Amino acid sequence: MNFNDLPPALRASFLPPPRLLMGPGPITCDPRVLRAMSYQLVGQFDPAMTDCMNQTMALYRGVFRTENRWTFMVDSTARGGIEACLVSLLEPGDRVLVPIMGRFGQLLTEIAERCGAEVHTIAVPWGEVCDPAQVAEALDRVRPKLLATVQGDTSTTMCQPLDELGRLCRERDVLFYCDCTASIVGNAFETDAWGLDAVSAGLQKCLGGPSGIAPVTLSDRAAAVIQARRHVERGIRAADDEDAGGERIRSNYFDLAMIMDYWSEARLNHHTEATSMLYGARECARIALEEGIDEVVERHRIAGNALAAGLAALGLALFGDQAHRMHNVVGVYIPEGVDGEAVRGRMLADFGIEIGTSFGPLHGVIWRIGTMGYNARRDTVLTTLACLEQCLRCEGFAAPPGEAVAAALGAFS
Ligand SMILES: *Cc1c(COP(=O)(O)O)cnc(C)c1O
Repeated sequence: MNFNDLPPALRASFLPPPRLLMGPGPITCDPRVLRAMSYQLVGQFDPAMTDCMNQTMALYRGVFRTENRWTFMVDSTARGGIEACLVSLLEPGDRVLVPIMGRFGQLLTEIAERCGAEVHTIAVPWGEVCDPAQVAEALDRVRPKLLATVQGDTSTTMCQPLDELGRLCRERDVLFYCDCTASIVGNAFETDAWGLDAVSAGLQKCLGGPSGIAPVTLSDRAAAVIQARRHVERGIRAADDEDAGGERIRSNYFDLAMIMDYWSEARLNHHTEATSMLYGARECARIALEEGIDEVVERHRIAGNALAAGLAALGLALFGDQAHRMHNVVGVYIPEGVDGEAVRGRMLADFGIEIGTSFGPLHGVIWRIGTMGYNARRDTVLTTLACLEQCLRCEGFAAPPGEAVAAALGAFS
């Protein structure tokens, strides 16, 4: 292949257009995170690198609100963090209970099935959350090894209350897992106070980073279950390395016992840590802790409420149980007779603003508009509402002029 014969677009470096990402994630990256990710690499076992790994572990204990020793990174998108937790905790035939309130609950069942687990579900209509009494009843009936939950399911914008579920699990000796990718630091999340055993997340929502690394935390209980399945890879086995004797974890890449060996003082090599992602993850946590986790959650609450107030003032109906809406993403019905994709197209083409479409039963029914991380701000909410009003009018919807921005400004003040 001759480089000069390539079309000009291929010969040029890729330059992304300026965008304001107001969808359900990813969102516009915090510039401090982009800066951190542009620093030069260091070697895998350089003390600077292992210090950075240990610091990142310490910072994420603050983000997850936990004392868990095992708080570390899985190098993959958030889905890989979920898969690592489930495949490392579940053995074929283990029972797992999954409350489903949207797409990401479905994803937990899909992953748990592939682990060979016996999957039991309780489902609520999209736009609602599960009642803890319903979960308690199902725990008694199913007697699972693991309860696998999603806190903020972006597909429906609902935020599942978790504070009572930990006690229900402890009383029954059930392990308690949560995917908090979309909700962490945008909504209150308490790993230790809520009795969680395994939690996984991602950076691309309220943490203000790109996707590509999954922070994970494990209680001692969960770590013991996983380490009972520890198996040292042949090529790096030392004379005194012994397997723990439990059933070997059925994934190599997502084997948390091996990944924990890598993040421990032993530094047993597994993969090559994604150095630039690690720098980004560290900076995301540092930024959140610098502002204060409670303050970050409050900023998301205020921005989400102002956005919701503005959308209502436009004459649009909000989707789902508003008492359980995530702070950081609002679902809003596409008005009768309006082409939802045409509005999204205009938002992007005319204003460089991305808002979200929806999946499954909500496809073509609602838009999802996010105010997350770096974009959970007053100016981004006001700009999005002002532009949406124009796009709606272009598509034939009689949006009352100026009302949305006024309502949002009122909510902010
Ligand atoms: C956005 C989101 C994810 C993202 O997973 P990726 O693999 O990073 O795309 C996972 N879980 C939930 C609940 C989410 O909202």
